[in-house]
Amino acid sequence: MRNESLKSDSFPAALNGFVPPTSAATSKHADGTLIDKYGRHVTYIRLSITDRCDFRCTYCMAEEMTFLPRSQVLTLEECLRIARCFVGLGVTKVRVTGGEPLVRPNAVWLMAQIAQLEGLREVVITTNGSQLDRFAQPLLDAGVKRINISLDTLRADRFKEITRIGDLTKVLRGIDAAKAAGFSRIKLNTVMMRGRNDDEFIDLTQYAVDQGIDIAFIEEMPLGEIGHGRQSTYFSSEEALKRLQTRFTLLPSTETTGGPARYWLIPDTQTRVGFISPHSHNFCDSCNRVRITAQGDLYPCLGNNDAINLLPLLRDHPDDDEPLKQAIMHTMGIKAKGHDFTGQMDSPQVIRFMSMTGG
Ligand code: SAM
Ligand code: SF4
Repeated sequence: MRNESLKSDSFPAALNGFVPPTSAATSKHADGTLIDKYGRHVTYIRLSITDRCDFRCTYCMAEEMTFLPRSQVLTLEECLRIARCFVGLGVTKVRVTGGEPLVRPNAVWLMAQIAQLEGLREVVITTNGSQLDRFAQPLLDAGVKRINISLDTLRADRFKEITRIGDLTKVLRGIDAAKAAGFSRIKLNTVMMRGRNDDEFIDLTQYAVDQGIDIAFIEEMPLGEIGHGRQSTYFSSEEALKRLQTRFTLLPSTETTGGPARYWLIPDTQTRVGFISPHSHNFCDSCNRVRITAQGDLYPCLGNNDAINLLPLLRDHPDDDEPLKQAIMHTMGIKAKGHDFTGQMDSPQVIRFMSMTGG
């Protein structure tokens, strides 16, 4: 698929010295909400509040990572201001992500503030679960109703291999704490990797069934150079579905959580099994989201390098949200029609790691 937006190599000059256009009529619907040039409504933001993480998942980060200096990272007040501007422009859902969002001090404070924004329907979080035994209850109290927890394996030694430093026991404790706290929905996210965890898809699904929670299987995306190719470990949703069908009855569902996952139900259980298939079932036509990194880069598309840096606008105009809103509306005009990860698995064109964009 052709990338119809501005290419990054022709655009970088605009990133930091962005001058808001005087008119952004094509980026804003008559009702004041955000709409891109392909007519897609943007109602959902994914806000990364830190690039740091207590894991180093092999598919997400390089082994040696250099993290951003503090001065280049959005303050939590700046994160809140960005969320407030988007909600003022019709965004109804905010996902807080990272890096690992719960390693950022006062993340729960931010969630509580975002939850109170007028017009917001829900604030949710994606976490690796390592800190959840401490934070599950405070998150629920802050107004978070649903939570996504990443879990790629149930084997401790393999968990250590995949995350390089993670401790599975802590994550399983975190899942227990989330269940005990009583979130309305808990979903596991599993990145599928041939030869690394594909022999556990059935066990992971059974675990979700036993816990009464959902699970989504994600096709790995080529974001960032991770030191080894991804083509050999690529595993498609279709193959995973076939594998699960050898054990479970799976009924197709029209249910949606407003995201790209297509869901299947396991009868007589509370579990929905989702597949997020950026390769095999490209979901760009119905894309409703944009992403903001911890350094304030607003990426209208996960699979492209185009971005506008909101940080200078935030800091140069501390009392005026208008330039920020204009920049956001302008970004709707450069949202790419779609991504194309095919053929990029061993040579990613998107150079930033997933930990920058937050999934
Ligand atoms: N640290 C948190 C976590 O792991 O849930 C939040 C950030 S993480 C970047 C968000 C999601 O992106 C996780 O579910 C992770 O498994 C997924 N992810 C990371 N790199 C990926 C990749 N290359 N392809 C597909 N999913 C990826
Ligand atoms: Fe950290 Fe999440 Fe990336 Fe793993 S997937 S390294 S937990 S940000």
